[in-house]
Amino acid sequence: MKTIGHLINGEMTQLDDRRSQPVFNPASGSTEKQVSLASKQTVEAAISAAEAAFPAWRNTPPVKRARIMFKFKQLLEQNADKITTLIGEEHGKICHDAAGELQRGIENVEYACAAPELLKGVHSKNVGPDIDSWSEFQPLGVVAGITPFNFPAMVPMWMFPLAIVCGNCFILKPSERDPGAPLFIAELLKQAGLPDGVMNVVNGDKEAVDILLTDERIKAVSFVGSTPIAEHIYATATANGKRCQALGGAKNHAIVMPDADMDNTVNQLLGAAFGSCGERCMALSVAVAVGDKAGDALVEKLKNAMQNLQVGCHQDSNNDFGPLITAEHKQKVLGFINSAEQQGAKVVVDGRNINVAGYEQGYFVGATLIDHVSAEMDSYKAEIFGPVLQVIRVKTMQQAMQLIDDHEYGNGTCIFTRDGEAARYFSDNIQVGMVGINVPLPVPVAYHSFGGWKRSLFGDLHAYGPDGVRFYTKRKTITQRWPSSDLREGASFAFLS
Ligand code: NAD
Repeated sequence: MKTIGHLINGEMTQLDDRRSQPVFNPASGSTEKQVSLASKQTVEAAISAAEAAFPAWRNTPPVKRARIMFKFKQLLEQNADKITTLIGEEHGKICHDAAGELQRGIENVEYACAAPELLKGVHSKNVGPDIDSWSEFQPLGVVAGITPFNFPAMVPMWMFPLAIVCGNCFILKPSERDPGAPLFIAELLKQAGLPDGVMNVVNGDKEAVDILLTDERIKAVSFVGSTPIAEHIYATATANGKRCQALGGAKNHAIVMPDADMDNTVNQLLGAAFGSCGERCMALSVAVAVGDKAGDALVEKLKNAMQNLQVGCHQDSNNDFGPLITAEHKQKVLGFINSAEQQGAKVVVDGRNINVAGYEQGYFVGATLIDHVSAEMDSYKAEIFGPVLQVIRVKTMQQAMQLIDDHEYGNGTCIFTRDGEAARYFSDNIQVGMVGINVPLPVPVAYHSFGGWKRSLFGDLHAYGPDGVRFYTKRKTITQRWPSSDLREGASFAFLS
């Protein structure tokens, strides 16, 4: 059985890890690989390698750093099939969805290729007699990224391309559930010419993360994952003097107004609710229908459209979505459907007993539609992270917005309407970080930044884009005087320039 190790100082290694765990193929339920779980010694070796690589890398001109990213982008494209296969085997998402994930990751590499432009400082001439002043952006040192299972290629690429072109050295701790793609991607960076030690990957679990959070050589931590862990990461990293951004979970609502184009809305909802088996932090998991007429039409049309969804293995591009990540997660999702039913909601389309021929041991749940959900139900309060769309019916748009504002999460949301005034009011006032207007998954492009509000993000700066550059650099402001011979001054004791 293959064991997936780490990339430290340019070498694939397993050092002395005592622990490992299986990596499952979620479609078949079989174990074809193991992942090594880094010991303290392994993580410390990665930190030492990164620290040793930092002085030379910080002094490498940004244009040279960017050239490595250009080459890296080419290698990602040339190796796309291998990367999407690794994602499919370990995560289960369908090949076209994995290709989309990879493409969104590549867009972050493209953004990082603009390093010389992104790192330009700001200059002011003659701020005083013979005095010039400028601000520049310097790297932090060794920084770490801890990432979730659901985007094993894209989310790491929200982090390391920018961190690296900003002059930092990076340690990635990917999800232990699908570690193959991120490790392979890091090897491509080496092939692209990145000096050893600048990018390191340690596979592992809490034990590895705890070292990254407390070792004083780590200057900043980017985290993406569930809210309880994000909160712990933020509290621990900041208590240890580190800069931290920790992105957490979500419950994304779509408001369906009575004037919405219902056929289009249903098509958009299908992809946004069930794509990637609902395992997306931007998945639309709640539809809030305004008015009973809209609610009835929505549920009827969704019910019909859902009959055509195909569930199966990642290799068949005719499939719409694949399995959940683990058997344990499948049980959790089933538990939420059961509890909604017990608490009075109506399961209109039931995916609990799906049978995928040839994949009887896989972690599949079929697309599920639950109507007449209310805000008190457990299935509404929690992030289900499965192929479950819940419908809540309200009378007014204000009630719909109040529901969204009252929810603990504030990652993404969307309104389906033909009314520009209502849409503008919604986007202006809703307490959510990423808003769509007739756009179901308003994931910002690489040259904006990604982040939710409320308990969907701990920290001040969003991920990637302009906020990413800010996160991975510190500002230094230099004030310089080269006095001309006729302008020599005596001592001054006033606080003036
Ligand atoms: P998770 O929180 O279980 O794990 C994320 C990372 O944290 C993994 O690398 C894991 O090894 C590590 N980890 C887990 N438990 C830990 C602990 N006790 N101490 C230290 N580290 C620990 O999340 P997941 O199940 O891999 O991913 C799904 C979650 O991620 C969902 O909640 C989803 O909404 C969220 N997510 C959020 C975004 C976003 O941008 N806001 C994007 C993708 C996923």
